[in-house]
Amino acid sequence: MTDGRVAVIGGGIGGLAAALSLRAAGFDVRVYEQAGALSEVGAGIQIAPNASRILHRLGLAPALDRRGVRPVAVHQRRWDDGRTLQRAPLGAELEAAYGAPYYHFHRADLLAALAGALPAGTVQTAQRLIGLDDRGDGVTLRFADGGAAEAEIAIGADGIHSEVRKLLFGPEAPRFTGCIAYRGLVPVERLRHLDLELASNNWMGPGRHFVHYFVAGATLVNFVAVIEQDSWTRESWTDPGEVADALAAFEGWHPQVRAIIGAVDQTFKWALFDRVALPQWSAGRVTLLGDAAHAMLPFMAQGAGQSIEDGAALAACLVQEGPGPAALRRYETLRRPRATRLQDLSRANKTRFHLPDGPEQQARDAAMANTGDRQIAAMAWLYAHDPSAIEPI
Ligand SMILES: Cc1cc2nc3c(=O)[nH]c(=O)nc-3n(C[C@H](O)[C@H](O)[C@H](O)COP(=O)(O)OP(=O)(O)OC[C@H]3O[C@@H](n4cnc5c(N)ncnc54)[C@H](O)[C@@H]3O)c2cc1C
Repeated sequence: MTDGRVAVIGGGIGGLAAALSLRAAGFDVRVYEQAGALSEVGAGIQIAPNASRILHRLGLAPALDRRGVRPVAVHQRRWDDGRTLQRAPLGAELEAAYGAPYYHFHRADLLAALAGALPAGTVQTAQRLIGLDDRGDGVTLRFADGGAAEAEIAIGADGIHSEVRKLLFGPEAPRFTGCIAYRGLVPVERLRHLDLELASNNWMGPGRHFVHYFVAGATLVNFVAVIEQDSWTRESWTDPGEVADALAAFEGWHPQVRAIIGAVDQTFKWALFDRVALPQWSAGRVTLLGDAAHAMLPFMAQGAGQSIEDGAALAACLVQEGPGPAALRRYETLRRPRATRLQDLSRANKTRFHLPDGPEQQARDAAMANTGDRQIAAMAWLYAHDPSAIEPI
């Protein structure tokens, strides 16, 4: 017999947000995290209204507002002359339209806000899952330290290298997307002379793009400098990167881009991987969530947002159907098409953002200026969606 628990494997943004949604729906939740302490990489993350609405409903608004930045706009810009092709509002107007704000966070601040809302004892650290046994009426989880736990439902929120995914569907390596990213955080005092608007900027150029925005109560500017590269031969997926190499990769770009890169003390190089859409996320009493289910390129800034949506949808399905395989099948049916669409759009943005100068780039720029793909109304399909508002069956 089980004790009616939902076990979440992985204490990243997706796992912790799912634990909060599940607790709010009345479930007894445990999160099992392999690391000795919860932690996130030193980088920024954008959280759009489709995800912030869920976090606000969970009571997190005060914690998020403590260090979260609410940008006023997003700019799509030309790499060389800096011309804005499209400026779309992200501030009060967007919040009024979708009932929740657009945020920029330091990842550690977001993770701390999520963890701080969970009761002590919910997250169990130093628990690396190595095995799962679905007995039909419950699941036994086995950990590397020899321990075990019982649950009625198990959720693999264990990231792009997911062990749960491997246990369910066999090994399959994520694919290198042909992109690497230099990431950095610059103290804002060093960039005062640039008089930056409290906005997100996406500079697009041949074979690369550069994104920057404020994080950590607007004390730091986060940047992600993405370049195309044929292969990633390193063993590790992340490496210290040389600032000089990042500057060389953006030779000839607008002085603002180069000034931001040049002001950083330390930069890290990330190989960007994604996965092909999985035909199936669930088996019996076990399912996947977040990057474990639908790892995507970050070019829609929706990987974490979709994991937060997953948790809300999963809680709604478990309430409606009861904690069993039917609820997991329902969850997957509701979530897969949307997550797959975002995987596809993220991948398409690699081509779109990196067009060489020429007719296709001119057509893209004209479309951005004329039809405004980031304008408030155009984002309704993404930002107005409420994953917990599921139809009764
Ligand atoms: C450059 C870059 C920029 C991005 N920008 C954005 C953005 O602006 N907005 C956005 O929404 N998304 C963004 N993303 C995507 C986002 O970071 C991810 O989609 C999100 O963090 C995934 O969360 P997760 O909880 O699914 O997985 P993870 O954050 O990877 O968490 C998985 C957790 O599981 C644990 N774990 C792994 N294996 C085990 C095991 N066997 N047992 C127990 N625990 C285990 C890990 O230690 C980890 O804590 C970006 C990604 C990149 C690379």
